Amino acid sequence: MAARAPSDPDWLTRGFGRVWLPYAQMKTVDLPAPVVATRGSRIILADGRVLIDGIASWWTACHGYNHPHIAEAVRAQLETVPHVMFGGLAHEPAYQLAERLTDMLPGGLSRAFFTESGSVAVEVAIKMAVQYRLNKGERGRHKILSFRGAYHGDTIGTMSVCDPDEGMHSLFRGLLPEQIIANLPRDDESFSALRATVERRAAELTAIIVEPLVQGAGGMIFHDAKVLRRLRALADEFDLLLIFDEIFTGFGRTGGMFACVETGVTPDIVTLSKALTGGALPLAATIASTRVFDAFWSDDPGHALMHGPTFMGNALACAAANASLDLFETQPRLAQARAISKQLARELESCRGLKGVRDVRTLGAIGVVELDRPAERAALMRGFIEKGVWIRPFGHIVYLTPALTIAPEELSLLTGAIADVLASS
Ligand SMILES: *Cc1c(COP(=O)(O)O)cnc(C)c1O
Repeated sequence: MAARAPSDPDWLTRGFGRVWLPYAQMKTVDLPAPVVATRGSRIILADGRVLIDGIASWWTACHGYNHPHIAEAVRAQLETVPHVMFGGLAHEPAYQLAERLTDMLPGGLSRAFFTESGSVAVEVAIKMAVQYRLNKGERGRHKILSFRGAYHGDTIGTMSVCDPDEGMHSLFRGLLPEQIIANLPRDDESFSALRATVERRAAELTAIIVEPLVQGAGGMIFHDAKVLRRLRALADEFDLLLIFDEIFTGFGRTGGMFACVETGVTPDIVTLSKALTGGALPLAATIASTRVFDAFWSDDPGHALMHGPTFMGNALACAAANASLDLFETQPRLAQARAISKQLARELESCRGLKGVRDVRTLGAIGVVELDRPAERAALMRGFIEKGVWIRPFGHIVYLTPALTIAPEELSLLTGAIADVLASS
């Protein structure tokens, strides 16, 4: 797509006085970099500079930007049905997407509820888990067990299941529902402690929620299939639902198509978003097992799931998602993820000896350099932009989650920039 000249050359400075940016102290935040075009793994700025994108716009653009197949699908959908309400009206893209997603997921995960953002998908999962008990006549089981280091979103309900520090629990005390937050059970000892907690509080609990294999926004903290197998066994022992938040891990990021497929551990509910549309449009899905759905299947209208966003199942977004799934079917995306993994592991090794670096690790198409101290984000980002790359550190973490289509030379520019900028910071 050709870069279009902005109609008003001063749009950035004028609009900057009117917008409110994410997680930003507006008084001190740097002026954002003005983007006029995107293509593949490249972001083109207004002054002509080109940045290689290391994080695929918060993990969404898994096929790179402006993929022609997705663009064509959205364009065609725009000509027929851009959007109609989901209550009482149906369109093929959403119904087809529900069928395709549930076919790709392990047995039992058979009902897709569409929303427009990851946080809302998690809210819906929580509501499903709570209403599941009510519909079965079980009283008092409305709490969720989650883990330190977790990130499940920014809305009120999802903040309550995030890491208590990162999730701003003290800031919003009194507003957030109180959940049960435990350490992720990485060894026998922590598993025993978790089991004891669950045993004591089982009468209040309805579900366990976890990001399988990687706690993403909470610090890119990895764990393995054994942890998930233990959580599945624990959930079964105490009749809890197991929710996998695969909003970050889904669609090849950890090397398999979904962490639940890769590990062979099947949850009762799974949430998807981020790369679901290949980064083109906002969309999320909460996918429930037959077991969960059956508790809502009734002649009693009061047993219906009580949720319904205005833009639910948006047809443009579903068309984009179907096109993205076409690409996963026809292109070697998982092989590309494995190749990225190897290259990240090899090239980020050079950061290991650097001053201020605590750890270097990779999992699937995720490369992490963990620092001793919280990253000085603004300064690092200026350094990265000077090197022609787009990387946005958070907490102690400098990380790469590139498009799965990134070229090896582009990836080398990213890993090289991290080593150079950290070495000179
Ligand atoms: C990003 C993310 C969310 C929240 O998604 P939004 O679309 O930002 O609301 C929830 N869970 C996980 C694991 C995520 O990575």
